[in-house]
Amino acid sequence: LTAPTAGRGGAGWRFENTYARLPDALFTPAEPAVVREPRVSVLNHPLATDLGLDLRALDPAAAAAVFAGQCLPEGSRPIAQAYAGHQYGGFTTLGDGRAVLLGEHRTPDGRLVDVQLKGSGRTPYSRGGDGRAVLGPMLREYVVSEAMAALGIPTTRSLAVVTTGESVYRGAARKGSILTRVAASHIRVGTFEYAARRGEGVLRALADYAIARHDPGLVEAPDKYLAFLRAVADRQASLVARWQLVGFVHGVMNTDNVAVSGETIDYGPCAFMNAYDPATVFSSIDHGGRYAYGNQPHVAQWNLARFAETLLPLIAADPAEAVAAATGVLDEFPARFGGYWLAGMRQKLGLRGEEDGDADLIGRLLAWMRTTRADFTNTFRDLSSGVPPAGDRYQAAEFRAWAAEWHERLTRDGQPEAAAYERMRAVNPAVVPRNHRVEEALAAAEERDDLSALRRLLDALAAPYADRPELAEYRDPPADESGYRTFCGT
Ligand code: AMP
Ligand code: MG
Ligand code: MG
Repeated sequence: LTAPTAGRGGAGWRFENTYARLPDALFTPAEPAVVREPRVSVLNHPLATDLGLDLRALDPAAAAAVFAGQCLPEGSRPIAQAYAGHQYGGFTTLGDGRAVLLGEHRTPDGRLVDVQLKGSGRTPYSRGGDGRAVLGPMLREYVVSEAMAALGIPTTRSLAVVTTGESVYRGAARKGSILTRVAASHIRVGTFEYAARRGEGVLRALADYAIARHDPGLVEAPDKYLAFLRAVADRQASLVARWQLVGFVHGVMNTDNVAVSGETIDYGPCAFMNAYDPATVFSSIDHGGRYAYGNQPHVAQWNLARFAETLLPLIAADPAEAVAAATGVLDEFPARFGGYWLAGMRQKLGLRGEEDGDADLIGRLLAWMRTTRADFTNTFRDLSSGVPPAGDRYQAAEFRAWAAEWHERLTRDGQPEAAAYERMRAVNPAVVPRNHRVEEALAAAEERDDLSALRRLLDALAAPYADRPELAEYRDPPADESGYRTFCGT
């Protein structure tokens, strides 16, 4: 690495290296590779400000050096984290094969966040891989993760994308790139699967660390490991409900891509659904539809079962007792998820209070949307705009019969309908990252070095609930997306 410059990468870094004090089995010290010619593609100034960082104090070359890992911020002690995971159901040992954790940064409001460089070269966990990443997919993670944050959905964040000036081969030569990812932590279900196989001491150290970091209220709790399982399960139930409510398809819900913090992590093959269909799959390798939109709640529960298994030795000395306790928590998952989902759907339809018929009312709207291949985002936004929604599809008898019942239900709430529509607009986004808009912005960036479409898209996604008529182009679904496919590991 090049010699540190004054200020060690800009004003405001406050690194602690708490993970690096855990048992050695959980990580390996690892440095970012030297790269030829780092250049900034995007910097996230609003996020930097939240983190207490002043990136404007850095000249472009200094910023590029920091976010390419060529100039380590003061106090950073980079490591690659070890983990394992069930990928498409099969267990594998993994680890940060193309990422290094610079350390945990303490924000001005006292939060501790991981700062990770993704695409920064080989590590001891790289297996056959080159440790590199390419520009399109790193910009894709930047766009979609920042869109999720603006939607109010828990997610890792993206602080910067740089190019390295080096070619990375993915069938053809592509632009090498590094993403700086900020996360509540990178502790995954797969981290626990790894730790559990390294012995109870390693497992307990990881669990105590994760509890202190994510559930400090449980540190002194009796049955704290069981309570931690319940807390992680509750966050997953809430998170996956939020995905369902905006039509987000994660695409690769392997256990190594499930963060115990409850943040969305790993934006590889994810995509937003256009036409409503529970069978929606975009990932090029998900032939069986394991990670289809409608299957996400079930997979979340399956992943939590893998998590629960790792915690058994900590939950109770008697295996039968541990299994019974953990099973109790897992069995609560469908009701937890269902509760979050139904509450969210009521909000999407402007319903206050709870009536027994609500689930049926919602189910009939979804059934109509499915048979008519209604656009998921636009349908709910249209419903939020007042009655009757404009557009031919809303003149159909089946829809009008449903809408009449919906309006009766709103009337029973005893509130002006205008108030319901206003609340609905606060939860039904006008703009989501449409796949064809994302792809065209990435293509311009990667093929023509033109970041203008990306900047316009980021601006459109920054306030997804606002009414901005000038953004109509971002609201239209594609004319045809039947061939749209996404990829992992690029
Ligand atoms: P993902 O599909 O992104 O969840 O990655 C699965 C695993 O593959 C992780 O352990 C990654 O670190 C590793 N990996 C992905 N791409 C590369 C690469 N180019 N070089 C080395 N490891 C990689
Ligand atoms: Mg991953
Ligand atoms: Mg990935």
